[in-house]
Amino acid sequence: MSTATLTIDLTAIRANWRALNARTQCETAAVVKANAYGLGASTVARALAQEGARHFFVAAAEEGVSVRKAVGQDLPIYVFSGHMAGDTDLIRDYNLIPMLNSVDQLIRHAENLSNHPFGIQLDTGMNRLGMEPVEWQAVRDIAVHLGPKLLISHLACSDDPSHDMNEQQWQSFVDMTQDLDIPKSLSATGGLLLGEKYHFDMTRPGIGIYGGLPFTKAKPVATISIPVIQIREVDTGETVGYSNTWVAPTPRRIATVSAGYADGIIRAMGPKTRLYSGNVGCPIVGRISMDLIGVDITLLSETPTSLELLNAHQTIDVLADNAGTIGYEILTSLGGRYRRKYLGDLA
Ligand SMILES: *Cc1c(COP(=O)(O)O)cnc(C)c1O
Repeated sequence: MSTATLTIDLTAIRANWRALNARTQCETAAVVKANAYGLGASTVARALAQEGARHFFVAAAEEGVSVRKAVGQDLPIYVFSGHMAGDTDLIRDYNLIPMLNSVDQLIRHAENLSNHPFGIQLDTGMNRLGMEPVEWQAVRDIAVHLGPKLLISHLACSDDPSHDMNEQQWQSFVDMTQDLDIPKSLSATGGLLLGEKYHFDMTRPGIGIYGGLPFTKAKPVATISIPVIQIREVDTGETVGYSNTWVAPTPRRIATVSAGYADGIIRAMGPKTRLYSGNVGCPIVGRISMDLIGVDITLLSETPTSLELLNAHQTIDVLADNAGTIGYEILTSLGGRYRRKYLGDLA
């Protein structure tokens, strides 16, 4: 078998959620959008429900279907994109709670599903999703009369605790929601870590559960192991891979492993990234191809049958740094070709 294995440690996922939950006095939801950041929404949601998570968030109504099947009928599943045209059947049939983002969505919801629960997303300055202060002012009384279950907003800069934007958005959220006796939520992982002031009634962590920054105490969740297909000896001056970007400075032993940028192993991470045999990191040599990577294994005494790209030595944030991106993008880019293995699955 030549496909790489992505091992997802559900015990670590559960421990990360538990550790985040322990930092708050309020509800700790779980964001499982984008297939739980690429790690498998059904399995992850089921594990987190077993751990005690009672509220789940997805980006689109379609994503709510598998989460609903995984967590049973009762736990609330909220949809960040709200109530889009064409979503009504899914929202009703899978009992999803749309976070309404505009007056248009509020009208659509009231017309199509008048007695169905909903929440409202407010824009406190990120200018991405949600009702802006003036819009909210205009419809607030009507919207509140319809009985929203949750009011949320989202912080733009919460990965930087010293950023002025955090306080500005907090103030705007308070101004827009004070005197309303409706559960409120402002913070994702970053805001949760800013402290109690940012917690309100519910936090909504995603990346921290999956082992990424800004939750520096997170346990790593994902491991990638890639089979070695072939090993060759190259002489001084020989090249490896497309465009001859690497030239052997001395005789070297090169392993070719079977994964590449089609598996989310972004070409740009090549020069700084290593593949591990146990604790020994071996440099990538030459360009990362679509399905293959060359690795200089000269310093290994044994002949490996597989090498690790992602592990406790080289986390998603190290790879992200190497590629000039963020851990979120590394995880969600991993793609469909891996053999996925779950550790610690109780069900
Ligand atoms: C993605 C998202 C979250 C979770 O963010 P993390 O940084 O992964 O914790 C929470 N709320 C909203 C609105 C989001 O879009």
